[in-house]
Amino acid sequence: MAKRRRVRWDRVLLVFGPLLLLILILCFSCHHRDKDTMDQTSSPDNLVESSLPAETSEVAVPVEAEARPLVICIDAGHGGKDSGATDKPNDKSMSEANKRLEKNDNLNLSLAVRDAFQKYPDIQVIMTRETDVFVELQDRCDIANNANADFFISLHRNMAENGKGVEVWINNDSMGDNTMDKLMSEYILDWLEKVGISERRGIHYGFREGEGNYESNNYYVNRYTNMPSILLEMGFMTSKEDNRNFDDHLEEYADAIASAMIELLTDKGLYPVQT
Ligand SMILES: [Zn+2]
Repeated sequence: MAKRRRVRWDRVLLVFGPLLLLILILCFSCHHRDKDTMDQTSSPDNLVESSLPAETSEVAVPVEAEARPLVICIDAGHGGKDSGATDKPNDKSMSEANKRLEKNDNLNLSLAVRDAFQKYPDIQVIMTRETDVFVELQDRCDIANNANADFFISLHRNMAENGKGVEVWINNDSMGDNTMDKLMSEYILDWLEKVGISERRGIHYGFREGEGNYESNNYYVNRYTNMPSILLEMGFMTSKEDNRNFDDHLEEYADAIASAMIELLTDKGLYPVQT
């Protein structure tokens, strides 16, 4: 029995010995391959870090990111062949040259508003027009949309038989909520009132185009701009009082519009612009 057992162990060793050795070798090489794979996985970072010269590493330390300015688009209503309202709408015999034209008032106020924003850092003003040129409504929207403007302010003047005062038009969708365009309107009206206006006519929603369509649609620039937008009617061309206010307080109105926006943006934590 003992002999038979010894012979069997020899055979076992003879057969399984090399197999065991092979298994051991395989295990050893597998372990190494795993380790290599792990090293490779973690190597890119190490490689980048270790291969960067000291100077480059210093440059790579995040430099204070430059703040994106807040972009405000000022839209001077009408222009060129489109004069807008006049102070004498019923006097057909009088040439336009002798009338007060809305397009000119809008442009003068818009340029003054642009200048008023210049004292505030991180505010960038873009204009839909800076001269007496005709600009399509869609082009006005495109200028603001393509620049990714944050806010859109369209400046106009009103015309009516016996109207006077300042009013703001915003999108129908903003009705009821404290939307940004509504807040812009309220802040701007507050500041304009401090300067002095004949009447605060408040916020209107939609579009005024004859009785039937009253508030049933939106002004084009409010509808097709992608950012909060308002259309500000700065008094009536047909009101002597409003025209006098407009001429006497042009710079103050411009400062008031800029100050109102800055106050709103500050209240909303959007200004000063954070990096
Ligand atoms: Zn107008």
